[in-house]
Amino acid sequence: MRHIAIIGSGPAGFYSAEGLQKQYGAGVRIDLIDRLPVPYGLIRSGVAPDHQSIKAVSRRYEKVAVAEGVRFVGNVLIGRDVSIDELRDLYDAVVVATGAPADRPLGIPGSDLPGVLGSAAFVGWYNGHPDFASLDPPLDTAAAAAVIGNGNVALDVARILAKTEAEFAGSDIVGHALEALDRSAIRSIHILGRRGPHQIAMTPKELGELGHLEAARPFVDRADLPPEAADAGLEPGLRKSVAHLRAFAEGAPDGDKPKTICFEFFAMPIAIEGDGRAERLIVERTRLTDDGRAVGTGERHAIDCGLIVTCIGYQTPPIEGIPYDPARGRFANDEGVIGDGVYCVGWARRGPTGTIGTNRPDGFEVAEKIFARFGTGDGGKPGGDGLDALLQTRGVTAVPFCDWQRIEAAEAARARSGSPREKFVSIEDMLGSLAPQP
Ligand code: NAP
Repeated sequence: MRHIAIIGSGPAGFYSAEGLQKQYGAGVRIDLIDRLPVPYGLIRSGVAPDHQSIKAVSRRYEKVAVAEGVRFVGNVLIGRDVSIDELRDLYDAVVVATGAPADRPLGIPGSDLPGVLGSAAFVGWYNGHPDFASLDPPLDTAAAAAVIGNGNVALDVARILAKTEAEFAGSDIVGHALEALDRSAIRSIHILGRRGPHQIAMTPKELGELGHLEAARPFVDRADLPPEAADAGLEPGLRKSVAHLRAFAEGAPDGDKPKTICFEFFAMPIAIEGDGRAERLIVERTRLTDDGRAVGTGERHAIDCGLIVTCIGYQTPPIEGIPYDPARGRFANDEGVIGDGVYCVGWARRGPTGTIGTNRPDGFEVAEKIFARFGTGDGGKPGGDGLDALLQTRGVTAVPFCDWQRIEAAEAARARSGSPREKFVSIEDMLGSLAPQP
């Protein structure tokens, strides 16, 4: 029997488990360890709450979790409850699937002012991640928000800021965010790209959604669009995205809808100013170099805004005992191999790019490598029994998958009408829902 620990129960962790099941059949025991009592990582706390069809992939992961030989071991933090060296002693192989949950810093003067938030924090807040439940973004006081970045996360953030309460019907946005967004004073949302419309990382389906909002109208300044003939050379997905931007340029910024989502291209944030909190974003106009980089032109303007959300990518926090590549913000690895029976997958391996499905080949590839390296047989490792014994001596109570299913049922039972769940937003409340009810 081979024993394998996977750290992290998001998409990359689950696809690795699925790949290992495929390689080993009944000859493997897999522990999917997560620091939260709830599984699924970004599916639960990253994917937008109004994109429920994407979240449905968790049903596939559930089949993996309930299969023979697989355990979910929730509420166990590597580094606090158990170390990497201990896991290496307990298991034949360790797969690190911890994602990239930390915001890349914007690093301009004023970026530490209150009112400046990273997307991991803001998205975590509206998705009920326990780390960000108490974030309290300044939605009642700010009339305008700036969203920095031209990727899909920027689109998620802008759309969530723009939607009406009715438009969240059927979503699992958490109650505290729904209430705060309903009271929000924000009427202008500026999406800033440091490069141009041909350099966006937004996909067409997600961009197109902005054209169908109840109370908000997207707007693009026609002067920022390259000549239409230049679109012909674009990759088809990007061409469709640019077609949406061209359609947005046809509308007026102050049409019949009360909110505006204004795309500002060639706009590089250089400072944030304000008296004790963010009040203005100073932006420098850019031009593109021959190799496609944005460089400042010296022309500057200010955008009055009390909320600034940076959506400029993520990094993987280091874990003691695992070699780290600080320049890339992820673990040092050679195609998923860290060394000495330690592997990494997903964003912890590649950085924060690609869709959920991109993690599947990644997880399957590492499973093949583990099989090639260790094969079948028995390495004499204690596996999950050894982990349980160690956790018991430390007074750590792990949450098994059947208890997650009880938390899930409790979240479904307290959902508002039409919503699939009302998430518990603290670990205490998640665990509290498992206690016998009087
Ligand atoms: P992303 O796609 O890499 O976009 C990051 C954006 O930030 C880019 O426009 C980049 O501009 C900009 N940026 C980086 N550093 C900057 C700086 N210092 N100042 C100004 N702008 C800066 O990242 P993401 O939006 O976080 O998305 C991560 C991944 O998740 C992507 O693969 C995305 O497609 C995926 N995702 C998918 C969905 C969906 O399918 N519905 C939803 C959310 C996320 P440059 O190009 O100039 O560097």
